[in-house]
Amino acid sequence: MRKGDLCNARQAVLLYALFSYAQVLIVTDQQIHLPEPIIIPRSEHRISRANISDNALKVLYRLKNAGYEAYLVGGGVRDLSLGREPKDFDVATDARPEDVKNLFRNCRLIGRRFRLAHVHFGPEIIEVATFRALHDGGDEGEERVIEDGRILRDNVYGTLAEDAMRRDFTINALYYNIADFSVVDHAGGMADLESGEIRLIGDPQVRFREDPVRMLRAVRFAAKLGFRIHPDTADPIPEMAELLEHIPAARLFDEILKLLMAGAGVETFELLRHYGLFAPLFPQTEESLRNEQDSTSGMFIAQALKNTDERIAEGKPVTPAFLFAALLWPALQQRLRVMMEEGLSEPQAYQEASREVLAEQVQTVAIPKRFSMPMREIWTLQQRFERRNGRRALRMVSHPRFRAAYDFLLLRAQVGDAPADLAEWWREFYEGSEAQRQHMVDDSSPRRRRRRRRRRSPKASESSD
Ligand code: ATP
Ligand code: MG
Repeated sequence: MRKGDLCNARQAVLLYALFSYAQVLIVTDQQIHLPEPIIIPRSEHRISRANISDNALKVLYRLKNAGYEAYLVGGGVRDLSLGREPKDFDVATDARPEDVKNLFRNCRLIGRRFRLAHVHFGPEIIEVATFRALHDGGDEGEERVIEDGRILRDNVYGTLAEDAMRRDFTINALYYNIADFSVVDHAGGMADLESGEIRLIGDPQVRFREDPVRMLRAVRFAAKLGFRIHPDTADPIPEMAELLEHIPAARLFDEILKLLMAGAGVETFELLRHYGLFAPLFPQTEESLRNEQDSTSGMFIAQALKNTDERIAEGKPVTPAFLFAALLWPALQQRLRVMMEEGLSEPQAYQEASREVLAEQVQTVAIPKRFSMPMREIWTLQQRFERRNGRRALRMVSHPRFRAAYDFLLLRAQVGDAPADLAEWWREFYEGSEAQRQHMVDDSSPRRRRRRRRRRSPKASESSD
């Protein structure tokens, strides 16, 4: 080796050492000194106490008066900054859950994964969360559990700055300080609110792995606010979407309600499919949508979501049973076809296919019985609409699930999945007077009616469902 080479080698080693040290410094710096926040004074933001619920204010003030830090955080700050009405109000504080409980008589501690205080005021619940620390602390014992990069439990407490860094999106990490009415912005959330962007805090891959539900939340906020998902946040989603398979089915059910029953269902459905997030939630439906020649099923689901969005906009009630029945209808139909080809009667096929579709669906998304029962009824009543002779139609309208099943039929007819004249007949029948109904029944297929009457034994029941 020549002298010059040695010199170069030494320089290289030195440079490498310096570079590694600098990296350590950067990492250490991130862990210890978080970036200075931007403080936006009262005069420069849109959040006014007039728009915060009295109960949330009560909680904030009582915490402050007891000597704790207290901030409104999350959707409340985000939505008020955009001039929208928040769905609920969340509070962040340095008080421990037990301290919060001692301050409020109407307080319950909930959650194992994230221990939280719920302060109850009649139907309104103010959620109070203690600042959480970042993820690289020392001996955490049982309080923080991470498995395959996924956070299973997180009850290590920290500072506001740390708490901000472990929230999901920059626009969800704004803190309204009740002490001086300023907004504390650690992650550049205000700028993203202004430019209309959903951006994860930190490394998107790491943050999605920690909690794959964040992918669904990105879509939810993008659809609800009409924002764009920043490319850095959006790009890893399609390849990480399958991580949703590891999320407990009950949590996914709750998330789907928030996604599809919040008034922007149509956009949300499109975004979910665009990012490959619909498949892990509704695998059977995804398969039916992919297999079908025409696009009736896609149109049917979109129409169901459009109706739901419209009802929500008009303040009318919506039921998850109806929407879930619509979301799984394409999958049910595919199964029905196969079963009837195999020789099952139509009512039998409806029973069996409904059972199978639901049994498979609840493996990914838990559908509580109070919704799956009416779903089955909505489905099985569909075939009974076609048989309206005799007193059947009269009996149908008095079925407790008639209205939902009838709305479902109208929806099907809208996209050509049921005959338009059948839907029209039922509309007339449903809206008609007693006399008109009787007349329509007498009119419908008198020849078959006579034949049935002769054949029927006194005890024969009409339908098996
Ligand atoms: P909305 O209540 O309108 O649905 P939100 O942003 O308030 O929206 P919540 O589910 O109420 O959503 O959560 C409150 C806050 O908690 C969020 O704004 C965010 O800061 C934080 N958060 C919620 N879920 C997560 C998550 N999975 N990962 C990280 N932070 C989260
Ligand atoms: Mg909220």
